Amino acid sequence: MVNAIVGANWGDEGKGKITDMLAKEADIIVRFQGGANAGHTIVNKYGKFALHIVPSGIFYDHTTSIIGNGVALNVPKLFEELESLKEKGVPAPKILVSDRAQMVMSYHILFDQYEEERLGKNSFGSTKSGIAPFYSDKFAKIGFQVSELFDEDSLMEKIERVCDTKNVLLEHLYHKPRLEPGEIYRELMSYKEMVAPYVCDVSLFLWKAVQEGKNILLEGQLGSLKDPDHGIYPMVTSSSTLAAYGAIGAGLPPYEIKRIITVCKAYSSAVGAGAFVSEIFGEEADELRRRGGDGGEYGATTGRPRRMGWFDVVASKYGCRIQGTTDVAFTVLDVLGYLDEIPVCVGYEIDGKVTTDFPTTSLLNKAKPVLEVLPGWKCDIRGIREYEALPENCRKYIEFVEERIGFPITMISNGPGREDIIFRKK
Ligand code: GDP
Repeated sequence: MVNAIVGANWGDEGKGKITDMLAKEADIIVRFQGGANAGHTIVNKYGKFALHIVPSGIFYDHTTSIIGNGVALNVPKLFEELESLKEKGVPAPKILVSDRAQMVMSYHILFDQYEEERLGKNSFGSTKSGIAPFYSDKFAKIGFQVSELFDEDSLMEKIERVCDTKNVLLEHLYHKPRLEPGEIYRELMSYKEMVAPYVCDVSLFLWKAVQEGKNILLEGQLGSLKDPDHGIYPMVTSSSTLAAYGAIGAGLPPYEIKRIITVCKAYSSAVGAGAFVSEIFGEEADELRRRGGDGGEYGATTGRPRRMGWFDVVASKYGCRIQGTTDVAFTVLDVLGYLDEIPVCVGYEIDGKVTTDFPTTSLLNKAKPVLEVLPGWKCDIRGIREYEALPENCRKYIEFVEERIGFPITMISNGPGREDIIFRKK
């Protein structure tokens, strides 16, 4: 049985916590896209962790953690992360890395920085982790796959070819130092040494696991609205954030993905540039940011303050639909306990017309939020384990959202810990 855990919004919905929680029943957890540009924050008995590349199931000793072929594999970051887990006393995890995963090179990170510098105020707000240059190279067919590390003879010829192209840009567009093929070769050989013990034919491994009836979790990064096809292009990430891509980025038959758990946050937050219709500003935003998540809404990778907003029905309904949601996990609901009244964005007004269907970017840029205000519950709901024990206004908020987005909310997260969860029978 294969389950996917993905985001409905702009990322930071709390997927890490839900994965960590559901990983208890999983045999295998697979990262299938993205790279070290976003982080999952997980709080458990070992401490608080910001994971960027290792799957969130890493804390259990019964699970195998897999870096799938769809991931932008930053080898030094992976090893740094494994080292930090070891330091905090987490038992050595079982890790496999797809032989078809491609590697983020140091020059991808440089190109990301140079391009953001060049764009200046028009920049994308990239985390400068090299993700866009990495995926560009993958699809331009000049990326380096893990399997190529073991074919040293043809490697040098390819490196020279890649350096020729890159050096034109470095010299004439960015006015920066050229790449030296020998150095790139040494970089790749150092990656080979680090990654060799973990390399695996992942799609074959997963195929066998499916035949054996193993429980597999696909862990997505970011959310629907950052998908390059269905998101707020061009303010998106460079790999698909959708559950459907899990089949490709892990190497599984698409029909094996039986459950798609879409994590949807009880209010909105976003990082980077791009339209954000329900965004709030000033003191109102500062307070929500301060109280949000676990210790404030600041980027797990960059520490940047996140942009804040009210729950957006239009974006979330779309975000859930495009994921193919079977279950919604509604998260960080406890954070809203301080509000007398809770505004919800229930529609977008575009050119004088109100819609609840999420539009393409040019229309989105013109959208104004239509708000409806719900009464708050004014108390702390952490520690509650039964749906019926939630305050009435809190249940009304959940049921209002559920009705508007049109997908069943089967889990409610009311705290950052593994046990802070309410299962709702549907
Ligand atoms: P991810 O990238 O989707 O995993 O999201 P983040 O790692 O940014 O998670 C959001 C933050 O919210 C983290 O600091 C989590 O520990 C925290 N968190 C997750 N679920 C809840 C919840 O239900 N309540 C509270 N207060 N914090 C939560």
